[in-house]
Amino acid sequence: MMAYTLRFDTSGNATAFNIAEQQKIRTALGLLETILAENLSNPKCKMIKNWFGRGNIKAVSEGLNNMHKYLTRRCTSLTFVSAPNHPQGFIGYVKPMVKTGLNPFDQSFENGNHHGHRHNDNAIHRINDNAPRHKQIVIPKQTAKTFRENCGYVNVQSGLRIYLTPAYFSGNFDQNDPNDELWFKFRCVAHELSHRILDTIDIAYGARASQRLALLAPDKNTPLNNADNWGLYLAEIYKFRNLKIRPELT
Ligand SMILES: [Zn+2]
Repeated sequence: MMAYTLRFDTSGNATAFNIAEQQKIRTALGLLETILAENLSNPKCKMIKNWFGRGNIKAVSEGLNNMHKYLTRRCTSLTFVSAPNHPQGFIGYVKPMVKTGLNPFDQSFENGNHHGHRHNDNAIHRINDNAPRHKQIVIPKQTAKTFRENCGYVNVQSGLRIYLTPAYFSGNFDQNDPNDELWFKFRCVAHELSHRILDTIDIAYGARASQRLALLAPDKNTPLNNADNWGLYLAEIYKFRNLKIRPELT
């Protein structure tokens, strides 16, 4: 199972992860690994079409395979950091490698348009222009697409830090959302991991907007590039899995 060390840290004046919250993340990661492994042998084609559109089954399978390999072979350390409220209200974020739009150094990207950024994929786009020089990272000749394909995971650094804010702990999600706290936290973990392992960005949030990307985006890569499409797809499998194994329903 887990090949990495799971760590918990606290940043600034944020409240530390208590034992119960640590356990929720540990459980979410265990389930994520199981779901990824199951998908390798039995891809959920209908659900993939639903969340990523027709024609993306192969690309999604490669992404899931990549995520699985990263977590089981490449990753040595995964640190979840309890962080103070984010000025832009983000629930979670990663930094400072890719321009996810969640990087505090990436103000110019945040205010610009995502497509302009994507068109630079073939150049050395993975630079944080506004970051202090020692924090700038350049990975040449690497595109989001190749990042997701088989073996792309070897390019991801072996230790990751994922920042989660009070909005994560309180489950600050849409009141109309029928999904529960554990579903929400699982989705957040999967969403943030996709930023780093699959080089996703934030184009749209939420089920409705993400499925709209899958159905209507003129470029079929758009839903593949959006973190919440991965988070919500994996969280849907998580939900169905839990429903199936609840004893009163079998
Ligand atoms: Zn995101």
